[in-house]
Amino acid sequence: MRQERPGGERENRVTVRAPAKLNLQLAVGPPRGDGYHHLVTVFHAVSLFDEITVEPAARDRVTVTGEGADRVPAGRDNLALRAVAALRAEVPGRAPGVRVAITKRIPVAAGLAGGSADAAAALVACNALWGSGLGQAQLVDVAAKVGSDVPFGLLGGTAVGRGRGERLTPALAPATQYHWVLAFAEGQLSTPEVYAALDRLRAREARGDEQPPRHQGGPGGDRPPEATLDAGLMSALRSGDARLVGRTLSNDLQPAALSLCPALRKTLAAGLELGALGALVSGSGPTCAFLAASAKRALDLAVSLSGAGVCRSVARVTGPAPGAAVVPGRP
Ligand code: ATP
Repeated sequence: MRQERPGGERENRVTVRAPAKLNLQLAVGPPRGDGYHHLVTVFHAVSLFDEITVEPAARDRVTVTGEGADRVPAGRDNLALRAVAALRAEVPGRAPGVRVAITKRIPVAAGLAGGSADAAAALVACNALWGSGLGQAQLVDVAAKVGSDVPFGLLGGTAVGRGRGERLTPALAPATQYHWVLAFAEGQLSTPEVYAALDRLRAREARGDEQPPRHQGGPGGDRPPEATLDAGLMSALRSGDARLVGRTLSNDLQPAALSLCPALRKTLAAGLELGALGALVSGSGPTCAFLAASAKRALDLAVSLSGAGVCRSVARVTGPAPGAAVVPGRP
């Protein structure tokens, strides 16, 4: 399934693009024995894509250019190279070395799962380059070994994730296109640090020090309840009504992200004042996502937000976007 030139000659190079994700709901349950938390989340892929190209090489190596490239590991810790190694383990003997070239557009450590997108893209690209012939379900199994958000990078669209987020069910919804404005922040947030901050907030609340944020146990409870899917959000998605979706966005990690990055409060408030239908911190942050009523409203909101000085930069995107896919005809 390698790309072919018009004359039928095989192109020994494959380019794949994979989307950033938002979490329309992120419910965080109790910690598990393995250090992860039980999650229920509604993933939503948006039209902000990293692009990766793979071609044969004597040994695996990676180069990274674009947005935040200097903060991405250029060795075996790169999630794209980890994905290459995981796929090779599934198809031994047919998987020579590859050079992976990543063009980043998804900001790094921004709560948009850019590294997972690159890993998903690497799986699709090497599967095509090597002619491994793995189907989507097999690729999803390999993806889950690489990282919690990698299976969704393959699937795209809108989907419910359970477990660590890797057990996916596509959300049945009409073909509504949602218009989003993303506000990128100056700094980054580390996902493990945000979860640790949530655990601290919950421990403090369990001691009765302060009011519980949403989804947390009642006073005196020392363990948050199991994470559950928000029926209101699912019904809003089935209706295709952006207003309802905007009202039902939720993220249990948001209080923790705000505790580490208080300036985001101002960003969220500004977007809502400027007419967004809903606003939330994306995943572990610090990117903020705002839902707009139309493409025109999204443009107005993006212009006003960037003028308000409450973020580093803005981007307009739409969702749902497709999962990792080969870019046809790209040399
Ligand atoms: P997470 O996916 O862990 O929730 P995130 O979505 O906030 O995090 P990512 O952009 O995926 O952020 O990056 C998380 C970390 O993964 C970065 O700090 C970076 O060091 C590491 N990383 C490894 N490979 C990549 C990659 N290809 N692109 C971006 N980051 C990568």
